[in-house]
Amino acid sequence: MHVYTHPACLAHDTGPAHAERPQRLAAVTQALREHLPDLQWHEAPRASVEALARAHAPSLLRTVLKTAPGERIMLDPDTVLSPDSAEAALRAAGAAIAGVDAVLGGETTRAFCAVRPPGHHATGDTAMGFCLFNNVAVAALHALDVHGLSRVAIADFDVHHGNGTQAIFGHEPRVLFASSHQMPLYPDTGHASERGVGNILNAPLPPGAGSAAFRQAWTSRLLPALDAFAPQLLLVSAGFDAHRRDPLAQLELEADDYAWLTTQLVAIADRHAGGRIVSLLEGGYDLEALRDCSVAHVRALLPGDGPTPSA
Ligand SMILES: [Zn+2]
Repeated sequence: MHVYTHPACLAHDTGPAHAERPQRLAAVTQALREHLPDLQWHEAPRASVEALARAHAPSLLRTVLKTAPGERIMLDPDTVLSPDSAEAALRAAGAAIAGVDAVLGGETTRAFCAVRPPGHHATGDTAMGFCLFNNVAVAALHALDVHGLSRVAIADFDVHHGNGTQAIFGHEPRVLFASSHQMPLYPDTGHASERGVGNILNAPLPPGAGSAAFRQAWTSRLLPALDAFAPQLLLVSAGFDAHRRDPLAQLELEADDYAWLTTQLVAIADRHAGGRIVSLLEGGYDLEALRDCSVAHVRALLPGDGPTPSA
C-alpha cells in the first residue's frame, strides 16, 4: 500500500492557534510509521496546472499560485495563504493524482495521501474552510479525463459537509458523492434534499449522534448507494473530526467506527473496483484522535490485512 506525503505540507503556515496546524500531519505520519511499518512511503509530486484546471477556475489558480505573499494573508476568516502554501497545495493535490495513477496503473490497490491543506471545502473558484485546492475533486477528474473511467465514487466521512466537492460534481453523473456530516455545522450545506443530478447523497447527523447513528446512516443509505453505483474507483475524503475528542464538532465517534466504515468501503471496492481505493486526509483537529483514527483507517485499508467484514 502506498502512502504519499511531502515536507512542504508541513510548511503551510496557518499561524499560531489555528486548528489546521502542521502538528496534525506530523501526528498522522508518525503514528502510521510507528504502527504500520510495512507501508510504502512516496514523496508526493506537484500537481500540474492542467490537472488543477479540471476542477478550478483560473482565478483561484492565480490566487493560490501567483500571490506569493511575503507573509500570511487571510483568504477568508478560516483560510490562510502563507509563503509556502502554494507548494503545499500543489503537493497535496499531486499526492491525490499520484495515488490515482498508482492504483489505476496496477502498482498497488490502495493509497493514502497524508497531506495538508485539506480540500473538500474548496469549490471551483473559491478557497475556503482551510482548503485551497479540492484534492479529491482533482483526483476524480484526473481518473475520469486522463484514465477514461466512467464511474468514480467519493465517500466523505469528515464531520463537515464537503460542499466544495458537491459543488464541483453536482452536475457530473460520472461521479457519485456520498457524505455523512454533522448538521448544523460549518459550512451549513449537505441537507438530504441536496441531490445534484441524483448523484449526491447526504446523510446529515445531529450533534451527539454517536456510533450507532453514524453506522446506521452508512448502512441504510450511503453504502447501498455506493454499491449500486458500482464505482470503478473509490476515493475517500478521510476527515477524523467526527471523533469524540475533536474540538470543532460533536458527532462523538470512536476510532473503531473509522475501521468499521473503512472495511465496508473496502468490500465495495473489492466487488466493483478491483479493490482500488485512494484515501485523502481531510480534517481532524485533536492530535490523539488523529493518531488513533488514521492508524485504524489505514490498517483497515491494507489489502488482505483489514478486519473481517461483519454482516
Ligand atoms: Zn472537517
